[in-house]
Amino acid sequence: MKKDKIITQTDSCIANTYGRYKVVFDRGEGMTLWDTEGKAYKDFVAGIAVCNLGHAHEGVAQALANQARRLVHVSNLYYTQPQADLAAVLVEKSFADKVFFGNSGAEANEAAIKLARKYFSGKGITGRHKIITMTQSFHGRTMATLTATGQDKIKEGFAPVLPGFDYVPYNDFPALKHKMDDTVCAVMLEPIQGEGGICCPDSGYLKKVRDLCDAHGALLIFDEIQTGMGRTGTLFAYEHENVIPDIMTLAKALGNGLPIGAMLAKDSVMKAFVTGSHASTFGGTPLVAAGALEVLRTFEREKICDHCRETGVYFKKKLEILKEKHKVVDDVRGRGLLLGMKLKSEGAPMVQACFEKGFLINCVQGNVLRFIPPLIVTPKDIDALVACLDSVLAL
Ligand SMILES: *Cc1c(COP(=O)(O)O)cnc(C)c1O
Repeated sequence: MKKDKIITQTDSCIANTYGRYKVVFDRGEGMTLWDTEGKAYKDFVAGIAVCNLGHAHEGVAQALANQARRLVHVSNLYYTQPQADLAAVLVEKSFADKVFFGNSGAEANEAAIKLARKYFSGKGITGRHKIITMTQSFHGRTMATLTATGQDKIKEGFAPVLPGFDYVPYNDFPALKHKMDDTVCAVMLEPIQGEGGICCPDSGYLKKVRDLCDAHGALLIFDEIQTGMGRTGTLFAYEHENVIPDIMTLAKALGNGLPIGAMLAKDSVMKAFVTGSHASTFGGTPLVAAGALEVLRTFEREKICDHCRETGVYFKKKLEILKEKHKVVDDVRGRGLLLGMKLKSEGAPMVQACFEKGFLINCVQGNVLRFIPPLIVTPKDIDALVACLDSVLAL
């Protein structure tokens, strides 16, 4: 089918919830995507921090093909080996003892919110249901997760949102301390805010939040949907300062593009979920579990986190050089390969100009260019993007 026909058909048959670039992607390989007209693009979006191993990864493709021929789905009424193996690897590599599988980030956070409330109600403690989240946060688009999300534009038109949520500015410890009381069951935050504009916590902030939760007996939930799976240079971002949450959510890169989400917790917390407490038809289905398992094995085998740390440092240095050179650049921030460049002007024209030159980047909060390439990105790819940015920023 021709490009224009696909675009027209999409726009006429699919809910218009997305503002899309006028391009139809046809295939990918590693860092590169090709559109239907054969034009190549270097992908510094990676499906929004999803395809961390790059596109069309051979090992994951093989694992999926093998599993698809063997068993795709049976329901969580029964046991399967891929689900057992994936859970065991996640438990081995994280603070957690137990996993609940869903199909997306929002579902993982939904499960975390339910677990936090059940943790107290299950002990017969009433009135302890409040969840404090951060302004500028992003936790998803279901009713509970859009309520948790600290951005008004995400909630517009969907009132009434759920009761039992409150918000404080990110990185503002006194504000959190002020709101903390015995009605709070959990504090939920991203170790680096992604959609919020690549906002990093001050060093020591997460530790103080942890200590405050402990002092009040509240749970700490880290939404690592964007920061997890090696994105910041360690498998999970909580490892940098070794601040251990009670609950962690994962999705995006967990399946390198397969729809999978996971909510992880220590056993002392997860045991609040009993038979019938929560469920998902597709959660941890053998097909996606086999794919995600191969993703984790590849991370280990190919030392993806080490590569991310090294190339992340290189990339950030290059962006800082651009900042020195171009007055329009206000700030460079982020960690590993979750990097942002805040501009003093709108970001959209820069994104469009890069797009025309064959580079995919995106923009959050209107003026923060976000760079979230596959973690296999090379210094050569980075040099090419930086040369493109250098010319685009000069416009
Ligand atoms: C993307 C994202 C989500 C939502 O994930 P979906 O799979 O789109 O539901 C939640 N939290 C964070 C931090 C995210 O980046």
